[in-house]
Amino acid sequence: MKPTRILFVLWAALALLVPMAALAQEGDPATLALMRQMNGQLQALGIKNIAVEQIEFFTIGQGRPLNRLHQTGSRWVAGDPRRLADGDNITYLVDQSDGATTSGLTSAQTEAAIDRALATWNNQEDCLRQVDIVKRPDPGADPDIIDFLFGVGGLGFPFYADIVDAGWYPRALFDAIGGPGGGDGILAFSVSFVFTDDDGNPTDVNGDNFLDVSLNEVYYNDHFGTPGGIRSGNPWVIDSGFPGIDVETIALHENGHSLDLRHFGPPPVAVMNPVYAGIKHEPLPVDHAGMCTVWSSWPR
Ligand SMILES: [Zn+2]
Repeated sequence: MKPTRILFVLWAALALLVPMAALAQEGDPATLALMRQMNGQLQALGIKNIAVEQIEFFTIGQGRPLNRLHQTGSRWVAGDPRRLADGDNITYLVDQSDGATTSGLTSAQTEAAIDRALATWNNQEDCLRQVDIVKRPDPGADPDIIDFLFGVGGLGFPFYADIVDAGWYPRALFDAIGGPGGGDGILAFSVSFVFTDDDGNPTDVNGDNFLDVSLNEVYYNDHFGTPGGIRSGNPWVIDSGFPGIDVETIALHENGHSLDLRHFGPPPVAVMNPVYAGIKHEPLPVDHAGMCTVWSSWPR
């Protein structure tokens, strides 16, 4: 065969292989179907450049699998102008309008706990030292979109910050996204979006073999442990242990997902264990290992 012919055959083989790899999915089939439906909603709304890629649940009791639409994995891209990046920093905001809890915490209390969690990640002297996690102010406008897709909020502008801690939401959101009983077991969830081209295909503009994260939203279950919830003995609290659910612990875990950490263990015990097990305000060795896997080559 001529060299050009060999190249063509190789190209054709790759062209066949790549879409097959991209089709591999992981997670609960019902959740994956819901994610595809959400992406159909986004397309129908004319929002064609972002797509839901990954959803992770933090629970009490039964753990839930990671759900993602592509096997490839996804990472932030340093300086990505599509997400209004602040250079090599990663930005976050806390939506104050949904910060109060039915269990009696004020928005100021939950925001301070979320800020402490982000400061903990920012202050790690491991691979994360190469990235500054910078707070952006609450814009006073709607900064998120998942709530809209489930009829419990408006359609916001999602690029006020890279990570949006969207606040405390009705149990119905957690039943809708987690299936029957979801609102009973799910304390919070994190949704990662990726950028897509005009045809809806995820992009990898920096060629790192990861899809490009566009934004991340974190939602907390307001009716977990309240009289309106089934687990009436687990209220949201600040810095106290069982039966309370400690906001900072959950925020540290959820914003770990926002920083591209996945679940691991137990064992070993880690902030990124998938089931709540009391107060954890400091990353443990396996969390550091995860951070180094993701962030050691940042910026890239
Ligand atoms: Zn999690």
